[in-house]
Amino acid sequence: MRTIQLPSGAAIPVLGQGTWRMGETPKQRSSETDALKFGVELGMTLIDTAEMYGEGGAEEIVADVIAGQRSRIFLVSKVYPHNATRQGTIQACERSLKRLKTDYLDLYLLHWRGSVPLAETFEAFLELQQAGKIRDFGVSNFDQDDLEEAHRLDRHLTATDQVLYNLSRRGIEWNVLPWCRQHQIPVMAYSPIEQGRILKNRALVTISSQLKVTPAQVAIAWLLHQENVIVIPKSSRRDRIQENYAALEISLTETDLSALDKAFPRPRQPQPLQML
Ligand code: NDP
Repeated sequence: MRTIQLPSGAAIPVLGQGTWRMGETPKQRSSETDALKFGVELGMTLIDTAEMYGEGGAEEIVADVIAGQRSRIFLVSKVYPHNATRQGTIQACERSLKRLKTDYLDLYLLHWRGSVPLAETFEAFLELQQAGKIRDFGVSNFDQDDLEEAHRLDRHLTATDQVLYNLSRRGIEWNVLPWCRQHQIPVMAYSPIEQGRILKNRALVTISSQLKVTPAQVAIAWLLHQENVIVIPKSSRRDRIQENYAALEISLTETDLSALDKAFPRPRQPQPLQML
């Protein structure tokens, strides 16, 4: 699996697995665990979770997935903004570690901006890092002005910005993406297939059938083609995980890229960051 370097020098895989909506229904737990394990076996060793997902339920599932193979996993979790005070962040991280049955996170993110001053959250992140409980930290759903504020506080350490980015949500190409490239901060693209909503788009269906691949694969391959971008599709089904993984093999030509540009033009002007 190709990797990108975080500012710390750590390598992060370009394609991983999301876990939103997992851990919500006890009946589905074993199939969700099985699906994530299958993805790891294929090579999708980056797992993105959060204390929010299933109110801790997703982290408990991830614990079963990573058991016995922690060292090959790149584990990401996130703190709720309302927990992101100095003490609250540390306690939230410790609760996450307990649910995940591990003693460190590879990456810990502030899930979105709340009312707690960023400096306080970053102090807690630094303390967690010094204690060896997190290796890197970063942010999520930060627009350019928030990123600039984070950068003023912490010039070298903000590892990533995890944001909504897919063919139908290209607003970040105006500001967040160039800013992150300039500062060598990878962007993590969430909802890469727009939670399934773009898969029926006519142009996408036509382009993918010409390429003899699926619409989801084209959507993921398009993101993988973007410089400095990490992609984290979520699926609880083995067949779809296999399909999403195979997007790594697709190289889009200039002709394919212009057809996609035409079907999914970027907005005409900068717009505020969108989030789900
Ligand atoms: P995705 O764009 O990854 O889409 C997931 C949905 O698409 C699921 O319903 C899944 O169903 C379905 N699906 C997956 N693969 C395929 C396929 N090949 N063909 C058809 N349907 C498919 O959306 P998410 O919002 O889940 O985003 C991915 C991850 O990003 C999240 O799980 C989470 O980890 C992270 N995220 C972070 C946010 C943040 O604020 N930081 C916000 C949103 C997401 P099924 O499982 O049944 O296959």
